[in-house]
Amino acid sequence: MNYGSRRETAEMMVQGMSVSPGVAFGPAFLMKTDEEPVVSRRLQPEAAPAELERLAPSIDATREQIQTIQRNVSQHIGLHDARIFDVHLMVLDDQVFIEEIREEISERLHNAEYAVWMVSERYIDALSRIQDNYLRERKMDIKDIARRLLRYLGGWQSAVRDIIPPGSIIVADNLAPSDTAILRQELAGGLVCDFGSPVSHSAIMARALEIPAIVALHDITRRVVPGETLLIDGNNGLVFIRPTAERIKTYDALMDRRHRLRVDIVNRASGVPSAMQDDVVVALRANIDTPADLDDVIKYGGDGVGLFRSENIFIKEGLYSDEQSQIDVYRVLVERMQQHPVIVRTLDLGGDKIMPDNQVVREDNPFLGCRGLRFCLAETDVFKIQLRAIATAAVDGNLKIMYPMVSDVNELLKANDFLRGVCEEAGLAMPAVGVMIETPAAAVCADAIAPHVAFLSIGSNDLIQYTMAADRGNDLVSHLFQPAHPAILRLIKTTIDAAAANDVPVGLCGEMAGDPLLVPLLIGLGITDLSMVASSIPLVKMVVRSLSMTEARALADEALASRSGNDVQQHCREWLQQRVPDVYELIG
Ligand code: PEP
Ligand code: MG
Repeated sequence: MNYGSRRETAEMMVQGMSVSPGVAFGPAFLMKTDEEPVVSRRLQPEAAPAELERLAPSIDATREQIQTIQRNVSQHIGLHDARIFDVHLMVLDDQVFIEEIREEISERLHNAEYAVWMVSERYIDALSRIQDNYLRERKMDIKDIARRLLRYLGGWQSAVRDIIPPGSIIVADNLAPSDTAILRQELAGGLVCDFGSPVSHSAIMARALEIPAIVALHDITRRVVPGETLLIDGNNGLVFIRPTAERIKTYDALMDRRHRLRVDIVNRASGVPSAMQDDVVVALRANIDTPADLDDVIKYGGDGVGLFRSENIFIKEGLYSDEQSQIDVYRVLVERMQQHPVIVRTLDLGGDKIMPDNQVVREDNPFLGCRGLRFCLAETDVFKIQLRAIATAAVDGNLKIMYPMVSDVNELLKANDFLRGVCEEAGLAMPAVGVMIETPAAAVCADAIAPHVAFLSIGSNDLIQYTMAADRGNDLVSHLFQPAHPAILRLIKTTIDAAAANDVPVGLCGEMAGDPLLVPLLIGLGITDLSMVASSIPLVKMVVRSLSMTEARALADEALASRSGNDVQQHCREWLQQRVPDVYELIG
């Protein structure tokens, strides 16, 4: 691929969907997450030496790439995580593996790409049949090596994929949860994606890391040349490719103003209680992906962790993640949160949360398939290890378990049977158990679920997707993804009523909880326990402190009677603009 051949100089503006506010300016760093098909070509015998010559630099470049990633990860994330790449380097230095690829080229006359693919598939197949969990998981390393070699051979710029120059704007088709390490290196200044929506994982991640992000740009990966300058306006969803000096000057002033505004809000929110005008306290907890996120929870004064998305442990370590390393992670959470509660959601795989090596069987409708608790009830070995690890760490602190994607009370009862079993066997106490209400069935039948749990937590991201029948990551139907739609508000109300009738607390941990526009509405409906990305806590706290319960209830009553989600949203917007203008300006 020759990027250099289509250089343009004029500024170009592209409109997308804003999902994380702020302004960023920097060189484009192109990333591609989908895979190119491997093409098989039969070589003439005289072409084999040239093909072998093509292979050699791909091995060197891949080794160099991995060493650079290892250094970056070690520097920014930690030595332990960096050791993961030792196995990659061993594979690349394995003469048998490399020799087999060379033989496919020189003796069987396959092109280099096909030879790499064939040999790695052979190894992956052999590893898949091994009993030992650790060795079986090493097939992921082979897959990763093959992917990098193939990308180099195909000429894609991924040779620099993990070596992000500081301040770069990441330009991607989409980001999978397994790509989080790239953003976590804290080198990215901003993110723009072809696909996505406000609740896609790349958007959630960008908000957590406080970097501006714009999604649903459709063809931004084709419009942008690696290294060229981008200016992104995360409040208005605008991307300027090759911005003019005038444009940069205007945005510089804006960036400065927003920065001062945010610092001022964070300072005013710090150390004061999250209490309403009439002293009702609203708990503000954090949604986190890794223990590293706890720094922000502490910095912004979060009341514990309302949602730990445990998928990341498995994405990093494989499905059969070692029990002790899970216990270590959960212990860090409770130790650092001290008396505050920490809610660990059991593995929520499936839908858009796919393991990098496709261990999940291919399904036509993954969002309606074997995801969340359904997957755990099918893969009981994986589930039992996680339950035992959580119960073990719960001995040391306020750790609770939460099951995702429940549609039927029997799924919950079955999961609790497993939990009871592992606890009895290990002589451990049963931790408190909660259920996420994220399917319409669970919301409508919350009265059947509530008697069996210690708490409920509404997962509004999935609840909206399933209720409105609108894929949460698909911008073509994002106009239907309406958090303030009467259908959603009524399901939230049904859940709250069922929880109250059973004397069970109910919180909300979807993206709605961190949206200052919608917080008054949720409180008015009766939710006083909100869990969000940590960076939203100061903004939400300022909204809580400006609001009275009488006011919130009036807003909620009006919204429940409304026929249009857009009208409700507009009403909330007017309230915020009038009552908390600085927060409104920051998110506006
Ligand atoms: C949700 O669905 O609202 C939720 C919090 O879970 P996730 O976004 O991880 O699916
Ligand atoms: Mg969910």
